[in-house]
Amino acid sequence: MKIIDELDRQSYRNVWTISESAGGGIHPVSYELLGIARKLAADRGCEVWTVAMGSGSAKQADALFAYGADKVIAVDDERLRAFNDELECNVLERLIKKYRPETVLCAATARGRALIPRLSGKIHAGLTADCTGLAIDPESGNLLQTRPAFGGNIMATIKCADFRPQMATVRPKVMPMPEPEPGRSGEIITEPIQVADTLNVKEILQTIERHESTVNLSDARIIVAGGRAMKGPEGFHLLEAFAKQIGGAVGASRAAVDNGWIAYPHQIGQTGATVQTDVYIACGISGQIQHLVGMQSCKTIIAIDVNAETPMMKLADIAVQGDLFEIIPEIMKEIAKGEKL
Ligand SMILES: Cc1cc2nc3c(=O)[nH]c(=O)nc-3n(C[C@H](O)[C@H](O)[C@H](O)COP(=O)(O)OP(=O)(O)OC[C@H]3O[C@@H](n4cnc5c(N)ncnc54)[C@H](O)[C@@H]3O)c2cc1C
Repeated sequence: MKIIDELDRQSYRNVWTISESAGGGIHPVSYELLGIARKLAADRGCEVWTVAMGSGSAKQADALFAYGADKVIAVDDERLRAFNDELECNVLERLIKKYRPETVLCAATARGRALIPRLSGKIHAGLTADCTGLAIDPESGNLLQTRPAFGGNIMATIKCADFRPQMATVRPKVMPMPEPEPGRSGEIITEPIQVADTLNVKEILQTIERHESTVNLSDARIIVAGGRAMKGPEGFHLLEAFAKQIGGAVGASRAAVDNGWIAYPHQIGQTGATVQTDVYIACGISGQIQHLVGMQSCKTIIAIDVNAETPMMKLADIAVQGDLFEIIPEIMKEIAKGEKL
């Protein structure tokens, strides 16, 4: 493998993001990536470029500029209507060799998880998956990639100092959504697919639409989440009634899911969903790091626990000490009274 020398290193420049389409539009995580890319580029004194691959991707450029891209490389081709990791990987490999970005950020979605490890292997670039924090050393340009390690017991900051580009994936909802700047403009670079990109790649014969899960934690504004203290499925019936009353969704810790009290799609944390709601109500969840990484960016955190000393109670904006089986029905009664007024 090739370790780059100083001269070679200097030929790599700019922060790239790989944008992703969803439901005929742009996946919101693409904007989150642009937000963090802007910060990194400001520290490094360089530009933000984004690669938009797909059918109709050139039309997405204005939105991508508004959220922070300086240049959009549009690979707008009908053959990219359905996700084909081999084809997208070949295209990206060619573009990276041509334009030499210093840093490449991609979403840790199903698409990103299929695409980016393949790409990093092909171009011998370092890759850190599932980062929860990103910063850059303005002098060396080394990306400081923070993520939970050793089962979430420590937060590790990883550098890929010997290779370029350096690549990281970030889960949706981990980075804050930036404010768009309508009317902000940039440059579109059109890159057609080349014959070499298409050689020996699989052909997509049919795509089957995924049926959305009834649990949509990522779009919820309020989540009421229960942990081991819920004691069983009946405890979650109480949370469901509470969540319904306040227009929220029900989440859970892994302890509750592993006990079979609620299904896995409700799990929040390192091995579950990452959420960024306006309000997160943690009911009997102690707040181990593996849970916190999935919800710590929520705007207002309310914790209910008998023990005031848990990490969740300490993290919470509002910590309510007491038995949740007494407190939640009381809160529900008060809300119902208010509704009648
Ligand atoms: C590799 C790995 C990945 C993991 N991934 C995840 C993940 O994605 N998500 C996740 O959640 N966990 C994950 N875990 C597990 C995590 O380490 C914790 O074990 C788990 O989060 C604990 O769940 P809990 O807070 O519900 O239970 P506990 O830690 O047992 O906490 C229960 C809390 O309820 C309180 N309590 C008890 N009775 C009451 C009552 N009547 N009223 C009010 N409060 C009460 C207790 O004081 C306590 O604070 C992972 C672990 C590993 C090793």
